[in-house]
Amino acid sequence: MRLRRAARFARTRARELRMIVKALVSTKHPVLVHIIPMRRCNLACTYCNEFDDVSTPVPLDEMKRRLDLLADMGTSIITISGGEPLLHPEIDEVIHHIRRRGIIAGMITNGFFLNRERIERLNRAGLEHLQISIDNVTPDEVSKKSLKTLDGRLEMLAQHAVFQVNINSVLGSGVKNPEDALQIAHRAVDLGFTSTVGIIHDNNGQLKPLGEHEQSIFEEIMELGKRSFSRFNEFQHNVARGREHNWRCRSGSRYLYICERGLVHWCSQQRGYPGIPLAQYSPEMRHREYSTEKFCAPRCTVSCVQQVGILDNWRDPQNLKPMPMDPTPQTPELVQIGSAGDIE
Ligand code: SF4
Ligand code: SF4
Repeated sequence: MRLRRAARFARTRARELRMIVKALVSTKHPVLVHIIPMRRCNLACTYCNEFDDVSTPVPLDEMKRRLDLLADMGTSIITISGGEPLLHPEIDEVIHHIRRRGIIAGMITNGFFLNRERIERLNRAGLEHLQISIDNVTPDEVSKKSLKTLDGRLEMLAQHAVFQVNINSVLGSGVKNPEDALQIAHRAVDLGFTSTVGIIHDNNGQLKPLGEHEQSIFEEIMELGKRSFSRFNEFQHNVARGREHNWRCRSGSRYLYICERGLVHWCSQQRGYPGIPLAQYSPEMRHREYSTEKFCAPRCTVSCVQQVGILDNWRDPQNLKPMPMDPTPQTPELVQIGSAGDIE
């Protein structure tokens, strides 16, 4: 197992290095895409605006068609998100298809459906990154994604997964015990995983400063997670202090969010911009979004898009205004509970 894991890690690291070089050489392809094969979720975290409890899986053929379009654009990394992607009955085949097209494959899951057999299937499918967000140490009315409910599954991952596992803990308003985040981060590192910390943002992905105590916990977790790419990112420290951040959001171009309907959006928190079907999303549209200044950028908390932004922050100022928003209503069944915020 150790050898298999070391081999997969080394291959993924080499592919990540190639991804960075390719991104620095050319601005014409998406670096990271989040794609939703399943909007339904088995949980109902009260801060979440990214799930429903009714939708069906996107059919495999349609998923492959979308993945092929992304591969043809030259996409480097595709992360499967949700809802809960493990509810999709053919998720292994989706992952396999990403790998078949030469793209780095990641997944974000709540972890509830992981067991040894499922982990082995993900190994065989070629998964390279898996992230689980854990919200608290014991489940409460806000979230059941707790260390207590998931710890056994984390141990299984530590024993059987050949892919990289990152545990994301959260801080911010609505999180009752900030110390929980620290305990979760320590457990992640003890198990050999990487650890990151997310900050709960409002319903538009916007900034809420942390209190003093939460800030010190945040800094401690960032130190613990120093193997993670996010340590290079001053942005997260600004978010923690509630400071606006000066950067160029390249969503719609270097980062794409593809919803279950196959529409392209800036990100999970700005759905509807531009809201164009992937098959019609041309290189000219991507180029336009590359040069479009995003009104939400200074107070954004969406860390994955920020990390992609690092690759281009130093070049090509943005001087275009956003295209008009798609007037068609978003998925009407989308569940939006509570107003505490959302987690990246
Ligand atoms: S945060 Fe994740 S686990 Fe919780 S309801 Fe949203 S999609 Fe489901
Ligand atoms: S700045 Fe970019 S990533 Fe952040 S909320 Fe706006 S569109 Fe989304």
